[in-house]
Amino acid sequence: MTDLTKLTIAQAREALKNKEFTAIELTQAYIKNMEAKRELNAFVCECSEKALEQAKLSQIKIENGTSGDLEGIPLGVKDLFCTKGIETTACSNFLKGFVPPYEATVTSKLLKAGANFIGKLNMDEFAMGGSNETSAFGPVVNPYSKDVKLVAGGSSGGSAAAVSANMCAGATGTDTGGSIRQPSAFCGVTGIKPTYGRCSRYGVIAFASSLDQAGPIAKDVRDCAIMLKNMAGYDAKDATSVKVEVPDFEKFLSGDIRGMKIGLPKEYRVDGLNEEVVAYWDKAAQMLKDRGAEIVEISLPHTKYALATYYIIAPAEASSNLARYDGLRYGNRVDGNSIDEMYINSRTQGFGKEVKRRIMVGTYVLSAGYYDAYFLKAQKVRRLIRDDFVKAFEKCDVILTPTSPVAAFPIGDKKMQEDPIAMWLNDIYTVSVSLAGLPAMSLPIGLNKDGLPLGMQIIGKAFDEQRVFEAASALEKQAGFEGVK
Ligand code: GLN
Repeated sequence: MTDLTKLTIAQAREALKNKEFTAIELTQAYIKNMEAKRELNAFVCECSEKALEQAKLSQIKIENGTSGDLEGIPLGVKDLFCTKGIETTACSNFLKGFVPPYEATVTSKLLKAGANFIGKLNMDEFAMGGSNETSAFGPVVNPYSKDVKLVAGGSSGGSAAAVSANMCAGATGTDTGGSIRQPSAFCGVTGIKPTYGRCSRYGVIAFASSLDQAGPIAKDVRDCAIMLKNMAGYDAKDATSVKVEVPDFEKFLSGDIRGMKIGLPKEYRVDGLNEEVVAYWDKAAQMLKDRGAEIVEISLPHTKYALATYYIIAPAEASSNLARYDGLRYGNRVDGNSIDEMYINSRTQGFGKEVKRRIMVGTYVLSAGYYDAYFLKAQKVRRLIRDDFVKAFEKCDVILTPTSPVAAFPIGDKKMQEDPIAMWLNDIYTVSVSLAGLPAMSLPIGLNKDGLPLGMQIIGKAFDEQRVFEAASALEKQAGFEGVK
């Protein structure tokens, strides 16, 4: 039998329906791969037994014709999603041992569609990071690594690596400033951050609530469409989820983009940008043109402030969201001689270095005297960044940019470790989209000279994921990237 783990979700779904193999066989194949590739450190919790039980139930549904859209498809879940009865840690020592009594809305939707969760995936602690090196479980190894172990990107590094290495058919991710798109680019897989409000945040452990969005990471554009359709939708339990219809995204994959206008932001050609990244960007624009799209130059003048704005707003919200981890309510508790000492001990021990850095920055920018100078100003600039996009979209339908200014770098890279700003610079192409709340997809289009994948980002108007899928599917067909390992 062919290697079942190489199939896309769409292919597996079809084959299951045609009885070419069973959901049990498919799950077994993925479990085998998950176990064989443990050295990648992609999974932090394996649910093999539960998954096999679930596969049996799915098989019955397939046989009696009552199967859901994702019936019997083995998925991985980022450890930021609360999963009922399954340990959920956000990859923080603070939450080790926490078993949620409830299910996140997004994962419960996937379960309802028949998906089968085979494990929880590694990530940066509380989703703070861009290389999966802040995880309390250690870094994820990029499946494209050769002699030197490379990062998988972050914060959804486990999700991207697991999909890339065929350890699961698809995975959930979350994206606050690039955490779906950048790891997807680093691992040669496809991921979409939907419009803010498209997916419910209920049960997703909060990092920065005005930015956090859930989305899929999968082997290709179609699989992202299938997954997103089954994750999205209004939820009364999340006041920021929006009551709009969820289209069947699979209907937007024809690859016909004749007449579509693709915007290239002139400000994104920053000095010192990696030459190969620029070359691929030009190539991608040409590919879309070859399919009948029109390329237009656009301007996003406030982009240069996006990183500074993001690294004020995200830590501010994080410092507030993480105040709940006090040693009393959840997880880690380290006693002291007074209640203050107990708080201090619990938080000192429970949180890692990057999380502490964010809490300190966030507390500072929210403090009296600095609130106006930093936080309020950042909110105003956020509006200007959003307005830039609104204006740009008067001239184009979608925007094309690289996902990341670099390809995957070595784990423990000295420069990145010693200079947090160098690490934060990697988010230059993703954070402005998050600040504006827009949908954006990253898809791989080729390898650089070191054999590492490079991703392109397609940004759409709010709630216009359809166009993003249309453009991405055209680019995918034209690029013909066969990246998944
Ligand atoms: N790398 C960014 C950060 O460290 C984005 C993280 C995310 O999207 N969760 O904040």
